[in-house]
Amino acid sequence: MEIIRSVSEMQRRALALKSAGENIGFVPTMGYLHRGHRSLMRIAHERSAPVVVSIFVNPTQFGANEDLDAYPRDFGRDEQICRAEGVDILFYPADDEMYRGDSSVFVVEERLAQGLCGRSRPDHFRGVCTVVAKLFNIVQPAIAVFGEKDYQQLCVLRRMTRDLNFPVEVVSGPIVREKDGLAISSRNKYLSQEERRQALCLRQALDAAEEVYAGGERDAAVLRDAVRREIDVAPLAKIDYIELVDAENLESVDRIRRPALLALAVYIGVTRLIDNTVVGRL
Ligand code: AMP
Repeated sequence: MEIIRSVSEMQRRALALKSAGENIGFVPTMGYLHRGHRSLMRIAHERSAPVVVSIFVNPTQFGANEDLDAYPRDFGRDEQICRAEGVDILFYPADDEMYRGDSSVFVVEERLAQGLCGRSRPDHFRGVCTVVAKLFNIVQPAIAVFGEKDYQQLCVLRRMTRDLNFPVEVVSGPIVREKDGLAISSRNKYLSQEERRQALCLRQALDAAEEVYAGGERDAAVLRDAVRREIDVAPLAKIDYIELVDAENLESVDRIRRPALLALAVYIGVTRLIDNTVVGRL
């Protein structure tokens, strides 16, 4: 496995691979890799070769009061995981490789990024789009794999890829969960034992709503209530949002007639966790 730290070297290498006829598969990450990331690497392997993984904790997607400095990092362990997954190139740029001090061009998606996480994290998707656009130009992938764990991010990035004509196929991977149902996230590391226990309310809330939906209920408010009741059982949980939106355009729905995304963001103590499910998936 090659480890590349320089943007220009990565771009040179990618362009050479591309002109040799290779289809690069790309998995962008912020590191502290877990089974969720590994599942995306496997999808990339099935679909393309070589596989490039990037590790970059992107400062522009963190708000002023968010956890940029505290975000967990362990490059040695990440490197081992990438080797074990047969990754061909690990791209691990430093902050000042990715952004000049006077960077002044950013990528903004103006529709899908507005609601859900965009409401409580106003500049988050601007940072995500900007860094992924940059990474697409640097890594030159034919396919890029993103997790449904960050469903809104996936939609925003699909839209960016379409609207800016990146020659990249965006592929998604399902949410990977712990045995007890908690969606795996690098941020789960922040949870104390008691918080970890109470964090299960997210999955339980989604299960409750799915059950209500399976019973024939189509009213979004009733489903949201079912979610709220489960979250309210956990004293350390504070709801940021519970929303039902169209699974494609992310617009709010009152009644479910087409596949709908049930998405939630919940603080467990000070840690903000997100989870989702698509109800009525075709
Ligand atoms: P992150 O390192 O958190 O920025 O995530 C990098 C990629 O991994 C994103 O496409 C995420 O959606 C995806 N991802 C994170 N957690 C999971 C998970 N539990 N299951 C599937 N994909 C995930």
